[in-house]
Amino acid sequence: MSLESQQQAADAAQQSNRKPPFFFREEYAGLIVRGNFMTLAAKPELVETGEWLAHQVVEQYRLLEQMIDIIKVIDEKTGAPVCNPNVCPTMSASGHTYTWLDNNKKPIKIPAIQYINLVQKWIVGKINDSSIFPTDTTSFAAATYASGSLTPMSAPQPLGPTNLNAPLSTLAGRDWLGKSSGFPESFDSDIRSIYRQMMRCYAHLYHGHWLDPFWNVNAYKELNTCFIHFVNVGKLFELIGDKEVEPMQPLIDLWLAKGLLPPAQGQAPPPAAKQENVAPPQQSAPGTAT
Ligand SMILES: [Zn+2]
Repeated sequence: MSLESQQQAADAAQQSNRKPPFFFREEYAGLIVRGNFMTLAAKPELVETGEWLAHQVVEQYRLLEQMIDIIKVIDEKTGAPVCNPNVCPTMSASGHTYTWLDNNKKPIKIPAIQYINLVQKWIVGKINDSSIFPTDTTSFAAATYASGSLTPMSAPQPLGPTNLNAPLSTLAGRDWLGKSSGFPESFDSDIRSIYRQMMRCYAHLYHGHWLDPFWNVNAYKELNTCFIHFVNVGKLFELIGDKEVEPMQPLIDLWLAKGLLPPAQGQAPPPAAKQENVAPPQQSAPGTAT
């Protein structure tokens, strides 16, 4: 696309509030790869679901991080990052403002970039906490396929029923996502919390920054590609609900209509999905949408 037509597109975006934002239009919903995202998200038959989801969450975060880096680039004109407290005084997307919980668990509005930085720190803390993510997911592929073992070397073995150090719930024979791979009982709610926060970041990237910088640096297809993969995994494994994706629903509907995302399955989410407010253990906690 020529510079001139890019400028026209930018001008039109600023003028018109009646038309849907550019990122909700079919002509801008394209991707950088022609692939089947459903195949990419599908769990290999012999891999345990907890292992697979841990691998997916780490991978999804890696992709999101690359997109977030784009809004942190210093704008030469202003000398400030593209997303800064003046441009984005709150973590907002399409009428939603996401609040953070302060030390007293009181919801507070903070600039988007501060919110995103806190989310990143919080997610990295979770991923690197071996009591939450006992698998060394960076060696996931090698450990899974090269050695023929489904349990990476660094993962603790599941506790046997006679281990007196095991939690009572284990002794009582309770089951949960990832239990057989050594993941804690909170794993399911942890990855849902991570997914919810990542969704908010994507919503802000689109609603706050699709034009500047993603359109301007011609990275909007990369953004779409990361996001469709994120949504696909989230929907397939029910890590994310309709309410959370609402700010991006029109784009998701476009992709659904093209058959790029699986149709709604209409299945009841697993029991742990009902756990709504999972506060991270550290002092600052992601809040809820207001
Ligand atoms: Zn921003």
